[in-house]
Amino acid sequence: MTIFKKAKQLSNYIDQQKKEGKKIGFVPTMGALHNGHLHLIDTCKKLNDITVCSIFVNPTQFNNSDDFKNYPVTISKDIEQLISHQCDVLFLPSVEEMYPADFVKKEYALGEIENRLEGHYRPGHFQGVCQAVDRLLQIVQPDNLYMGQKDYQQCMVIRKLLELTGREQSTGLSIVSTVREADGLAMSSRNLRLDEEQRKRAASIFNELNFIKEHIQDHSLEELKKNASERLTRKGFKVDYVEIANAEDLSIANNTAGKLVALAAATTGNVRLIDNIVLN
Ligand code: AMP
Repeated sequence: MTIFKKAKQLSNYIDQQKKEGKKIGFVPTMGALHNGHLHLIDTCKKLNDITVCSIFVNPTQFNNSDDFKNYPVTISKDIEQLISHQCDVLFLPSVEEMYPADFVKKEYALGEIENRLEGHYRPGHFQGVCQAVDRLLQIVQPDNLYMGQKDYQQCMVIRKLLELTGREQSTGLSIVSTVREADGLAMSSRNLRLDEEQRKRAASIFNELNFIKEHIQDHSLEELKKNASERLTRKGFKVDYVEIANAEDLSIANNTAGKLVALAAATTGNVRLIDNIVLN
């Protein structure tokens, strides 16, 4: 695996590979890699000639400075894991490399999706995500981009970003299913910050989403959301939301018609966890 720290050097390498007709697949991450990330790498490897992974803990997408300071960093282990999954290229830029002095900060017209759910609880988060991903896409120029369903709303935002930046033809977005621990907890770098008690409790989020899926036909949506939220609160979570939304635009669902997704965000200790499952 080749490690690039400089954007220009990586761009030159990519240009060369593209000239040779190679297909470039890209997996952007913030590191502290787990099997969820590695599933994206494996999926990317199957359909592309060159798999590029980036690790960049993007400061502009953290609306909570403690969350940024405490974000786990396990770079040596990450490199080992990427090598064992035959990742071809790792891009490991510094903040200065990603946002040089002449970097022009854009405002992305993401529309309603920006302010719903995660956007409401993490103001500015999706603008920060777009800043980093837009810059990474300029550098990597991938044919295919791989993102996890775990961050359902982020996938929708990135789809919009591709459209806003005229890349919807040149860069295909593949959404890869969520990889879970044996008890159902969605794998997440932040899980490393859970203590033993919190870790045991954390699977409740998935269990509640599953309960909604199983009972969607025999309870009202309001009742399902309220009960799930109350049960999580009783278990000690600070619940931001348990929501049932239309899968296409994440508007709140009023009935069970169409494709729906149940999404939750809740904090245990000081670790905020999110998860979602598609309901039908
Ligand atoms: P992150 O490092 O958290 O920014 O995640 C990098 C990419 O990995 C994003 O596209 C995530 O949606 C994806 N991802 C994170 N956790 C999982 C998971 N448990 N299963 C599948 N993909 C995931």
